[in-house]
Amino acid sequence: MKAHDGMYIDGTWRPAVGRDTIEVVNPVDEQVIGRVPAGTAEDVDTAVRAARAALPAWSATPPAERAARLAALRDVLVARKDEIAETVTAELGSPLKFSENVHAAVPIAVAGSYAELAATHAFEEKVGNSTVLHEPIGVVGAITPWNYPLHQIVAKVAPALAAGCTVVLKPAEDAPLVAQLFAEAVHEAGVPAGVFNLVTGRGPVAGQALAEHPGVDLVSFTGSTAVGRQIAVTAGAAIKKVALELGGKSANVILPSADLAKAVNVGVANVMSNSGQTCSAWTRMLVHRDQYDEAVALAATAAAKYGDRIGPVVNAKQQARVRSYIEKGVAEGARLVAGGAESPREQGYFIAPTVFADVTPEMTIAQEEIFGPVLSILSYDDEDDALRIANGTVYGLAGAVWAGEEAEAVAFARRMDTGQVDINGGRFNPLAPFGGYKQSGVGRELGAHGLAEYLQTKSLQF
Ligand code: NAP
Ligand code: MG
Repeated sequence: MKAHDGMYIDGTWRPAVGRDTIEVVNPVDEQVIGRVPAGTAEDVDTAVRAARAALPAWSATPPAERAARLAALRDVLVARKDEIAETVTAELGSPLKFSENVHAAVPIAVAGSYAELAATHAFEEKVGNSTVLHEPIGVVGAITPWNYPLHQIVAKVAPALAAGCTVVLKPAEDAPLVAQLFAEAVHEAGVPAGVFNLVTGRGPVAGQALAEHPGVDLVSFTGSTAVGRQIAVTAGAAIKKVALELGGKSANVILPSADLAKAVNVGVANVMSNSGQTCSAWTRMLVHRDQYDEAVALAATAAAKYGDRIGPVVNAKQQARVRSYIEKGVAEGARLVAGGAESPREQGYFIAPTVFADVTPEMTIAQEEIFGPVLSILSYDDEDDALRIANGTVYGLAGAVWAGEEAEAVAFARRMDTGQVDINGGRFNPLAPFGGYKQSGVGRELGAHGLAEYLQTKSLQF
């Protein structure tokens, strides 16, 4: 795979300060497919300086010009979509079809949505005798994970550029190649030098240096709750704004009036998709006790059908982590009805599609984010019981409700402490605000709400 041996800073690829590199590994066959530089605090500092220097001119460009650059960026992503899909498949191990339909297609949709929003958003409004200006917040430090590597980059960089901010990105060390490809795309799109900068590197070195840098005005982070908490503490001390998109343990609530087979099958597909490495995955399925055995049998059949068709998880550490959760589930008394902790293949970081029945709300596998293809099925007695279980974790990122009538599902969804709910299998909407209640995060991404994260207001009184 193509890999740059430098950092994209101030419009050019320049050598890293240090010599340390990060090996990029294909999780399907455990082979090294490339190397990227491991950035240091010095690289981050150079990048932040470039972003600061570019800020006055970029923030003063008319929104129509920023919209034109974002439209050009979308067009480059479209022209290079096959290369994007192949790159994500190589570094994440996801099946090529999924990379095409999701890892490449969603960022194109999101970049396009911000090209349009930049052109149409009201960056000024009248409030009584005031004019309120919505101004860019400044230099953004973006730190992203590997599970939807390009989507998570575009979901931060596109609104930041639309707002008139400049950016330094520290992508995940497990998926830096698509981040380098993105930097090439930004360059091809004619975005001025210094507006977007890329520093590859390790979280505790480059990531931490970026989060701590006094030249960064907003830290936008997606990843684990543990690192997010640390970033919030650092930013809080500096009175710096943060946006945090963290973990989830979402509930898929199947009410008795629902089409049970459809709800179970879509629910299983949702969890197995991307090998379970989706922060908003519905990893807890809640079924009425009268329908429980039928749902468990349906889910076991559906999971077994996935068999070999799902990709591996991202690395050996994640594989070990997911396997230890499966072992814990068994140890705490849950009943395995599909999959298990044993690796289904000799090579690659694979986990068999796994389903647990007889899961109770306080079990570890019902409380903690596993980030693998593991579904827990819980039973409830009535709607209040279902609601108590659904809301009974520290998380609140997403969820689903199924019922015979939409209105019944909506009534339940209103009572859920969570940022997104799909009603009877509703589709992903790249314009809808995405983000968490409770410990799933702070702030919202995507659409106009995502743009607002990168703006601050100034009121002029007349
Ligand atoms: P992570 O450590 O939180 O990684 C997310 C990003 O933060 C990466 O770019 C990472 O760099 C960086 N980072 C790590 N330590 C940092 C620090 N001290 N300061 C600043 N940045 C830092 O997540 P992970 O280790 O990849 O995955 C662990 C668990 O997090 C998963 O099992 C899953 O539960 C959860 N997770 C959630 C999401 C989500 O979308 N909500 C995404 C990924 C993971 P490196 O790549 O170099 O580590
Ligand atoms: Mg990490």
